[in-house]
Amino acid sequence: MKTQLDLAREGVITENMKEAAIYDDVTPEFIRDGIANGTIVIYGNPNRKSRVIGIGGGLKTKINASIGTSPDIIDIDMEVKKAKTAEKAGADTLMELSTGGDLKKIRKNVLDAISLTVGTVPLYQAATEYIKKDGSVVNMDSNFLFDVIEEQAEEGIGFMAIHCGINLTTLERLKKQGYRYGGLVSRGGSFLTAWMNHNKRENPLYEEIDRLIAIMKKHDVILSLGNGLRAGAIHDSTDRAQIQELIMNSEVAEYAQSKGVQIIVEGPGHIPIDEIETNVILQKRLSNNAPFYMLGPITTDVTPGYDHISSAIGAAISSSHGADFICYVTPPEHLGLPKPEDVKEGVMAAKVAAHVGDMIKLKDKAKNQDLKMGIARRDLDWKTQYETAITKERAMEIRPERPETAEDTCTMCGNLCSLKGVNKYYAEDLEKGKKKTYELAVG
Ligand code: SF4
Repeated sequence: MKTQLDLAREGVITENMKEAAIYDDVTPEFIRDGIANGTIVIYGNPNRKSRVIGIGGGLKTKINASIGTSPDIIDIDMEVKKAKTAEKAGADTLMELSTGGDLKKIRKNVLDAISLTVGTVPLYQAATEYIKKDGSVVNMDSNFLFDVIEEQAEEGIGFMAIHCGINLTTLERLKKQGYRYGGLVSRGGSFLTAWMNHNKRENPLYEEIDRLIAIMKKHDVILSLGNGLRAGAIHDSTDRAQIQELIMNSEVAEYAQSKGVQIIVEGPGHIPIDEIETNVILQKRLSNNAPFYMLGPITTDVTPGYDHISSAIGAAISSSHGADFICYVTPPEHLGLPKPEDVKEGVMAAKVAAHVGDMIKLKDKAKNQDLKMGIARRDLDWKTQYETAITKERAMEIRPERPETAEDTCTMCGNLCSLKGVNKYYAEDLEKGKKKTYELAVG
């Protein structure tokens, strides 16, 4: 089957490319060109009808919300509710990462409940089922892993996080550097590390890359090259093991693209803010500007309960430097499985971060929304303020909770409203300037 990448290289503009172009307000040719160059990816799996968005260079930063059961909490209805909550809050994609219960059934319920592109980590299912059967992941048969990947591709999964970059060379770096302060926090990464160390064998997802590529190509699944050795502690960030994995992932990315497979490269993890730009530059440079999927990043280790804020700070900086895709973090990160309300908080924090980053990355294309808001605030035009807000729902809840005495002000300053107090002296100038400023803001 020809993938979106194959078709883009042939100069064909597909319906999916047109849909992605509308979402980002760019031309279909822009999307086609980006896909052909490997800097943009779009959903292409024909096995499921999904909303199509583009991820990559020149486009708005997209947000992923991850949900899924754990062995401790298995509640299918709650997972479906979380998926719907993420979609309603404005997530661009959803990763279904269940590891407890009937994984196929949970995935089907989630896929049926939403229209977002859904991603998975197939290794979770393969490892979970093997652990159930055998007590350990180390005896997992690689054929079983590839069967799971194919099965999920047939269900219409749009992108898969697959850890090809953890190989024997990467593990040698990890050993030589003396392991890590924060251990290994990626579930996929730890499964494979245990498997390779126990079997003294190469990672099958690296060794049998052509087998993996054949499945991705057959179903046009985006290969999201996982960051299994991402730092789980600030003091492990940007270490040799992480960079070694990035080098491996970048080589795999180039090879997969040459075979017509769309790819994303994933990045860390926990990073202090002064290393974020370096991480983005390195990823972009090594992978020929492939779309960069930043996991968070969480920017300090000491804010459990508020890690959605620490990661929003990191996400905004990442996006401003060129990260294309952000995985949200929810308030219970490091503490417990998120509930639907946590999913909403996580998506909203990531949306704020993505916009803040896009104001720098995309300049006026994103900033004009701020100009429109500034003017609406000046003019005490509450209707336009709500319409312009990325956080409209919450904004509309807050004001009525605190009834004001005058209709045009709010209870923050009441009759001391500074805007109202001064606007009247500039009424004439405002009238003159209004048309021009609105034209600027609305475009
Ligand atoms: S009352 Fe204060 S916070 Fe509210 S609109 Fe006026 S200046 Fe702004």
